[in-house]
Amino acid sequence: MKNVEIANLFNEIADFLEVKDENPFRIRAYRRAAQAVEGLAEDIAAIAERGELLDVPGIGKDLAAKIQEYLATGEIESLAGLRREIPAGVIELMGIHGVGPKTAKLLYQQVGVDSVEKLEELAKAHKLGGLPGIKAKTEENILKGIAVWRGGRERMPLGTALVLAEAILEELRPLKEVDEIAAAGSLRRMKETVKDIDILVTSRKSVRVMEVFIGLPNVAEVLAHGETKSSVRLRENIQVDLRVVEPDCFGAALQYFTGSKQHNIRVRELAQRKALKVSEYGVFNEKTNQRGAGRTEEEVYGAVGLPFIPPELREDGGEIEAALEGRLPTLVTVEDIRGDLQMHTTWSDGSHSLSDLAVGVRAKGYQYMAVTDHSKSTTVAGGMKEEQVLQMIAEVRALNKKMKDFRILAGCEVDIKGDGTLDFPDEILRQLDLVLVSVHSRFKMSREEMTARIVRAVQHPLVHLLGHPTGRLIGERGAYEVDMEAVLAAARTAGTAVEINASPSRLDLNDLHARRARELGIAIAIDTDAHTVDQLDYMRFGVSVARRGWLTPRDVLNTLPEKQLISWLEQKRSRQ
Ligand SMILES: [Zn+2]
Repeated sequence: MKNVEIANLFNEIADFLEVKDENPFRIRAYRRAAQAVEGLAEDIAAIAERGELLDVPGIGKDLAAKIQEYLATGEIESLAGLRREIPAGVIELMGIHGVGPKTAKLLYQQVGVDSVEKLEELAKAHKLGGLPGIKAKTEENILKGIAVWRGGRERMPLGTALVLAEAILEELRPLKEVDEIAAAGSLRRMKETVKDIDILVTSRKSVRVMEVFIGLPNVAEVLAHGETKSSVRLRENIQVDLRVVEPDCFGAALQYFTGSKQHNIRVRELAQRKALKVSEYGVFNEKTNQRGAGRTEEEVYGAVGLPFIPPELREDGGEIEAALEGRLPTLVTVEDIRGDLQMHTTWSDGSHSLSDLAVGVRAKGYQYMAVTDHSKSTTVAGGMKEEQVLQMIAEVRALNKKMKDFRILAGCEVDIKGDGTLDFPDEILRQLDLVLVSVHSRFKMSREEMTARIVRAVQHPLVHLLGHPTGRLIGERGAYEVDMEAVLAAARTAGTAVEINASPSRLDLNDLHARRARELGIAIAIDTDAHTVDQLDYMRFGVSVARRGWLTPRDVLNTLPEKQLISWLEQKRSRQ
């Protein structure tokens, strides 16, 4: 399928147009088309063959022609022209928070910066100062941005790595030479980014398993190839290690390679007190060296006097103590989720109409959804004006009459303006079933200003939920400066819920903040922020953050059945 390729090309065109300072709506059109094409379940070539490209949301005549051109020739001539005009390194600069398209263009034209390395050199030597719009503070921000960008290249977001790991497991699992197979490491602990992928397998004929592994189509380089261990680097630029272990030690190896290191140190300490030794090969009697456990992880934990500890908790964050005292939380699962409270449709920057998206949400087995398109200030995302909000609400009410056993909540992701006031007046907010508020602009305020801004929004009596509370984009943009403790305290007092945004590039709140919110007794919603039907699957990434934050189903707002959720929303507003 060429869908992802075409989506990448459209995004690349949009990047170039940004550097060239072209019309933002034209740029947005390319981004939306990229999103729509990537989200298609069907091969775009098949759609083109039937002459139905114009039926794809966001694809007009011009973009349809470009898709046709690419399918026919393997190239888009206008993109080739842009590539000749602007070096690729300039586009890379744009990926650094604090630079942006205008500055990237300026840096390139005025001082010949065409790579991140060059930019870093000049910023460190304070040689950017004289350029228009660049202050000492900007140089500092650029260096911070470069650090975040580098971090993003060394560690892969969980959302990407997990999909790659699952694809490998799917290839290997059906082999008759494979008995048991599982991914371990930080991936199994569902950390928000991972450095490499560790896979363990039991097999009586590992030579064949290793051959298939190093021959996978997306292997770029074989780093090691042996009978018990092989390592490859994938085209997506991540290392994968495959280890063969004995069936009797599978549990011990899984426990060992899942980590974390700190957690395993604590487990070994407990073992020592019982005169036992834990290794990747099993649990052994220190004196006789006889093996007592190792077949399963349950056995390993049991041998040292612990119940099974879910991988997401294995960070030495109090889970050993909780396990010893029998108070490990019953963590929330994807199956507990009964609805999704943030998503976007063609009312703003989503790919599907409200009714199409509702069909997709319902197919997940959910009882309800909140449609939360953007408000007017987010112009490039096609934010709704007041009259459109009213039309959207009318559409929701009409659709609800037609649907049985499913409820759409008319919501809106309302912009929090610079001073903490909201993008719509109260008479509009009052008509919405759910008001979600988020920051989408002016990220570089001081900590005091940003905290006051968000606290004010959270305290608004008509607001239900705070969206992506820190604004970070993993590997792209750090969190804005904000006193999260003060924001959470305000949310608690006002009875406002906070979001775990499940989009793999956000995962915001993160695990630690989510845990703190839980301690404070704040309701937490896990929302996908889906812009396509496919993105509704992001829920599992949000749930993994919740699990890492020790959340139980009772802590999560959208585990409530429909009626209880509706009364929660109503009660929130009547408490003032
Ligand atoms: Zn948002």
